Amino acid sequence: CGVVGVYSNSFKSKVSKMIYYGLIALQHRGQESAGIATNDGELAHFHKGMGLVSEVFDDSIFQKLQGHIGIGHVRYSTTGESYIANAQPLVVKYRKGSIGLAHNGNLTNAALLRERLEDDGVVFQTTIDSEVIVNLIARYSGEGLSYAIERTMDLIKGAYAIVVMTEDQLIGVRDSYGLRPLCVGKLEDEYVIASESCALDVMGAKFIKDVEPGEMVIINKEGVNYKKVEKGVKKASCIFEYIYFARPDSIIDGVSIYHARKNAGAILAKEHPVEADMVIAVPDTSIPAAIGYAETLGIPFGEGFIKNRYIGRTFIQPEQSMREMAVLLKLNPMRNAVEGKRIVMIDDSIVRGTTSRQIVSSLKRAGAKEVHVRISSPPVAHSCYYGIDTPDRNQLIGAVKTVDEICNVIGADSLGYISLRGLKDSVGIADDPFCHACFCGNYPIEVPNEVRNKGFN
Ligand code: 5GP
Ligand code: SF4
Repeated sequence: CGVVGVYSNSFKSKVSKMIYYGLIALQHRGQESAGIATNDGELAHFHKGMGLVSEVFDDSIFQKLQGHIGIGHVRYSTTGESYIANAQPLVVKYRKGSIGLAHNGNLTNAALLRERLEDDGVVFQTTIDSEVIVNLIARYSGEGLSYAIERTMDLIKGAYAIVVMTEDQLIGVRDSYGLRPLCVGKLEDEYVIASESCALDVMGAKFIKDVEPGEMVIINKEGVNYKKVEKGVKKASCIFEYIYFARPDSIIDGVSIYHARKNAGAILAKEHPVEADMVIAVPDTSIPAAIGYAETLGIPFGEGFIKNRYIGRTFIQPEQSMREMAVLLKLNPMRNAVEGKRIVMIDDSIVRGTTSRQIVSSLKRAGAKEVHVRISSPPVAHSCYYGIDTPDRNQLIGAVKTVDEICNVIGADSLGYISLRGLKDSVGIADDPFCHACFCGNYPIEVPNEVRNKGFN
């Protein structure tokens, strides 16, 4: 998911429009639903819908979304089904007014907390873990919003980057491990918070800083304040943001996503070189890695596929049958470019194997002489419980098959994955401040058995 928050000192600003632009820049983080909530100092207004940001909003809706504070969300479901009641932001009324919340990430103890709240008579309107968070914040809000969020942070476990708004404040917070990204920017009259810096760029904001793990950014009429909620844990931000999830023009925790991907390609070339006539990428995510691979070995980089840009990311489709059809619709090989050639095809990851299997065979049908697959992440062999949708271990081809077997299944002439060491080096931050549990199985936050067994709550 992706989140945005805007606080303006001028009632004239078009806060909802700014959030809309920010969400469009974050569309790659989720395409199932989109929503914006604003607060005009007295009343909260919101609008949410299923589909892309541009499908959910139009000018008549912006008229209704008045206010000097606002938050927005784009969703792809990891907990809770994909339907409108589960769209965010969530807006609830409590005794002092209203609270709006938008959340990226997954809690690992949501089911337990929800049960406890239900025992106390709390009723829930959605099946998402984010509703637990908003309930807890409302419950502790007697002594102020930042205090309530701090108390809530003591109880919730898991991954979260959250924006929260009331009548007079905007708060952003990142979990103590920094699993999901969040950054802060500034315009003349506004402060903004967003999942990725590419959203700040389109809103015309200047980057101020990344929110630190366990840090709260509090924005109100006094300006901006930061408060660190220390938990004494080691940072473990999601390394998959660098591989796949984030946009290449974003900078997360000081590292350019584009450079990290290009480095990964260069390292992959050293670890798994091959003689070939052309290096191609599976567009778009793998283009920087393919360029890095091609430059390192001195093989020409070329376009091997034409991508239909009018359908969403295949992985972010909730059902397998939809995913398979989407791959075919989305990527078509260019016969003229690949015919008779030895091709190295770079992709960022193999999850279920759906994409690789289909496009290796379509490259061969288009006349490629050899297809060597190189992957700029290690085999995905464990599920993510922190906000990326890989629910069931036995669906992960890297968990159930060896590299040779996978090579066979996808029909490639050879297959090579970057090593975990190589991947860490590609991001280039010392001390390994990353979560890489989906490759190595070491989960930085304990995942209770009931969550593992059921996949997701
Ligand atoms: P597969 O088809 O093997 O299930 O998925 C791998 C493909 O999905 C790759 O082309 C990769 O770019 C894409 N992909 C999309 N979303 C994700 C995600 O959240 N995680 C991973 N690992 N790969 C994803
Ligand atoms: Fe990211 Fe993988 Fe960790 Fe999930 S398990 S947070 S995808 S690194």
